[in-house]
Amino acid sequence: MENSNHTSNFIRNIIVEDLKEGRVNEIITRFPPEPNGYLHIGHAKSICLNFELAKEFKGRANLRFDDTNPIKEDQEYVDSIKQDVEWLGFTWDELNFASNYFEEMYNRAIVLINKGKAFVCDLNAEQIRETRGTLTEPGQNSPYRDRTVEENLELFDRMRKGEFGNGEKVLRAKIDMLSPNINLRDPVIYRVSHTPHHNTGDQWCIYPMYAFAHPIEDAIEGITHSICTLEFEDQRPFYDWVVAETEMEKVPHQYEFARLNLTNTVMSKRKLKQLVDEGVVDGWDDPRMPTISGLRRRGFTPESIRTFCREIGVTKSNGTIDSKYLDYFIREDLKLKAPRTMGILKPLKVVITNYPEGEVEWLDAEINPEVPEMGLRQIPFSRELYIEQDDFMENPPNKYFRLFPGNEVRLKHAYFIKCNDFVKDEAGNVVEIHCTYDQETKSGSGFTGRKVKGTIHWVEATHAVPAEFRLYEPLILDEAEEAEGEGSFLDHLNPNSIVTEQGFVEPNMKDVQPQDKFQFFRHGYFNADSKYTKDGNIVFNLIVSLKSSFELPKS
Ligand code: ATP
Ligand code: MG
Repeated sequence: MENSNHTSNFIRNIIVEDLKEGRVNEIITRFPPEPNGYLHIGHAKSICLNFELAKEFKGRANLRFDDTNPIKEDQEYVDSIKQDVEWLGFTWDELNFASNYFEEMYNRAIVLINKGKAFVCDLNAEQIRETRGTLTEPGQNSPYRDRTVEENLELFDRMRKGEFGNGEKVLRAKIDMLSPNINLRDPVIYRVSHTPHHNTGDQWCIYPMYAFAHPIEDAIEGITHSICTLEFEDQRPFYDWVVAETEMEKVPHQYEFARLNLTNTVMSKRKLKQLVDEGVVDGWDDPRMPTISGLRRRGFTPESIRTFCREIGVTKSNGTIDSKYLDYFIREDLKLKAPRTMGILKPLKVVITNYPEGEVEWLDAEINPEVPEMGLRQIPFSRELYIEQDDFMENPPNKYFRLFPGNEVRLKHAYFIKCNDFVKDEAGNVVEIHCTYDQETKSGSGFTGRKVKGTIHWVEATHAVPAEFRLYEPLILDEAEEAEGEGSFLDHLNPNSIVTEQGFVEPNMKDVQPQDKFQFFRHGYFNADSKYTKDGNIVFNLIVSLKSSFELPKS
């Protein structure tokens, strides 16, 4: 990983100051996912930020599963999150589970009760909502607010012992129902939920609320800079209140940054889960998904995602990034890494009528012209080839420089060929074209006799290896975000998000391995699908096409 590439941002500036002023000796950050889904590219932004800051300042970064809500959490998600963070190139210092701190959280709640700063409340969820007030109206005190410390201790103990049903009682912080910040109006900090937990089993039937648990988790781990997204800005006063009133020894500080939004992309675990559960996609790692595992299967590299996250920067204002920006970085990354090759997506048979029958010659082709050290590959040439259907037209428009009757083109790495004739089937489709080649025009021979305007790609037919190509467009149409609220985002699925073609690739591709990446001449970058490339089957996912109207903004 590059070290010189640290883009400055406001959180980094705070850290520099904190270290300089001696407010902290070592910075400790954490990435705290809830294991209720797979990670997405938005999470990658947070992962990169937390881990790269820790690395740059020789501090530490923890991976912590924020697993305080037993209902939605699952071991499958825990495993996938670990895999994704590692794949992105990061190593955590500590691997923690918030649920391991349940006992300590319980004890800290008792500290609050003993100080008269928390009380057991019998109002139900709806009554609590109704008495909370609004932005313009104050809240009302709960009738249970003045319970004695002894009574609260006893009731809280009975809550833990399972004497109450779900929702029957809660523990609330006792702060100020008149506070202009609604989060300080006696928020609920513990609830009863008779639900087994993926880590603690049935040890607990009361669970802490996120807003209470999170600051305690940070304080226990000695997190110095607790970085979260902007929605939590209004929670910061409560975060500080919890750390102070529960008398945590170490005092973490929360900093908020703008979450990542991408055009044509849903970025909420709930919606992504819906796509999976309703079978709209082929699992969490469907190549169209913005999940880390989906991007991996699509063919994105960790480097491209890290560079993207670094370049979009860290700000305090929400905005939406063009998803073409991510495409730009994968092109940049693969340009020098990916071998070049040729593949035919929609085959049309070509017969070279003046090439001897039964003969095959092997031609040299550069593996990557931008990296000569990558060497050469050998590709066969013979009397029968495949080209793209689009590279022949019976009646071409002006400025069509590819094959048509009487026209000559260059076959990449091979010879000039000229079209003389073609064959149609009963339905009128061209099924075969007949050409002649000119031996003198062999690629690399220095031939300068005449020029042609078109260069097309091809694959020799008798050695060609069948392959499937999967071409992708965004899963979600652009209007989906605007239509939020009216109906479901599922009404805005792009019907062309996947198009499949059965084609051919060069013979040296027969041993292609899952996740191998190539630049197919004139088509784009493709990745061998990790799920379906097996048992002699080859499936290529389009990562990104070669060209884009997108230009990197000048900075
Ligand atoms: P979602 O809304 O997709 O379910 P979440 O915020 O509920 O995401 P968590 O597992 O709580 O998911 O997120 C873990 C961390 O990742 C949090 O610190 C959160 O702020 C951060 N994060 C989540 N989504 C984004 C995003 N789009 N951009 C930047 N950071 C994000
Ligand atoms: Mg969350």
